[in-house]
Amino acid sequence: MAVSGFAPSQNAALTFGFPGRSDRGTGQEVPEDVTKEPIKTRFYGIHDLERLPPLQALSPADRHAMAVVAHVLPFRTNNYVVEDLIDWSRVPDDPIFHLTFPQPGMLAPEHFRRMEAALAEGLGKAELKAVADQIRLEMNPHPAGQKALNVPTLDDAPVPGVQRKYRETALVFPARGQTCHAYCTFCFRWPQFVGLGDLKFATDESQRFAAFIKREKHLTDVLFTGGDPLVMRTEMLASYVDAILAPGFEHIRTVRFGTKSVSYWPQRFVSDPDADELLRLFERVVASGRHVAIMGHYNHPAELSTPVAREAVRRIRSTGAELRTQSPLIRHINDDAQVWAELWRTQVNLGCIPYYMFVERDTGAQRFFGVPLARAHQIYQAAFQQVSGLARTVRGPSMSAMPGKVALDGVAEIRGEKVFVLSFLQGRNPDWVKRPFFARYNPRAMWLDDLDPAFDDERFFYEDELEDMAVRAHARAVVKLHPAHHEPVH
Ligand code: SF4
Repeated sequence: MAVSGFAPSQNAALTFGFPGRSDRGTGQEVPEDVTKEPIKTRFYGIHDLERLPPLQALSPADRHAMAVVAHVLPFRTNNYVVEDLIDWSRVPDDPIFHLTFPQPGMLAPEHFRRMEAALAEGLGKAELKAVADQIRLEMNPHPAGQKALNVPTLDDAPVPGVQRKYRETALVFPARGQTCHAYCTFCFRWPQFVGLGDLKFATDESQRFAAFIKREKHLTDVLFTGGDPLVMRTEMLASYVDAILAPGFEHIRTVRFGTKSVSYWPQRFVSDPDADELLRLFERVVASGRHVAIMGHYNHPAELSTPVAREAVRRIRSTGAELRTQSPLIRHINDDAQVWAELWRTQVNLGCIPYYMFVERDTGAQRFFGVPLARAHQIYQAAFQQVSGLARTVRGPSMSAMPGKVALDGVAEIRGEKVFVLSFLQGRNPDWVKRPFFARYNPRAMWLDDLDPAFDDERFFYEDELEDMAVRAHARAVVKLHPAHHEPVH
């Protein structure tokens, strides 16, 4: 059955010389060419949808539908994903195909029709972009208050490219790291990639991020993120990292790198010309007495099935860095307890630490990839029950929502009412963390905003305070735009 709106697959015709993953052995052995031969990255984008040989087995209508979607949501993949990760004998149902190639169902029918009509009219590039931008703005491009609430200030001015949602952790978005080796179809940071100018976070070149981190002594963790900061050459990345190893930054105890390179381009750690230099950078941070955590983004066990992916894990760990793993739960890609159990088992086997199962965020193509919270919890629980204690480090299903990271801990019946039991793993106010709270059971709810308090309560316990925070953040922003205006704005 075609799950994505494609015509039924003509599987036999879709191999085009690329082997199915199952033909590739166990991935345990590491052939020498994996470690020695640098491979050049070839990127594929919207114009390759008509050119890539294996896609020719899909119907022209399917390729057209993919192109319509790719005019709105970003599409990029690369030669490693196409040749080594996708099992073309399973396309269009293959999970890695869903992970990087545009799927017809990703746009709401109304959005799809609008973009399709614009293309049929033969509009010019600028006009097409205007249509696409309008649709993008209707897709909740910055969920969870990222623009309004997370951007900190230094000397009364916002610090470009930094977000601070939690007391201990600052996120740094290096300007040159705002892209990825391939784009995930479900990406919640998709506005970063579509040139919607005002929506992009990135540091400027002034290194004000470092001045901010130096001043904030409550911070213990810095997370370099993106996009993918590891798309940067090591030399460039080092200029950011070395800035926070200098005297005055002793309060920073952990340096994290959020990355999908471990999956989309593991050669980054193995055979790229500056792969060794990257490992030396990790070693330098470890030698400074700090913890290095690579926050590796893996969505499916297939991503750990190749020799080069396993060699990347081994090399990262040889530096003293830890590899913690995370992924959202995504329909059509990994909405299956067996898949998660295998993923966590494989990770523990390789020495990684399973860390988060996230809920797909309320942005972009959530309508296509989202899984209801009730089902997400069932999948988490069923997978969790199958793995040993060492894999039970994983937390979830967790929503990175406006007030913080909220986990759905279970379903219970209390005083005759069926409820979701929730708690904060992280909160804008640390006092909120690990206080159980309850929402009315709702089998269709996909996100925190869809939930209502249980027991006829009017609000969740944190909502008044969150509202105050939002009002204060809004007032600060207005005061900065209009310095004469000192009244709070409601
Ligand atoms: S790697 Fe992360 S930032 Fe990049 S496309 Fe995937 S989800 Fe988005």
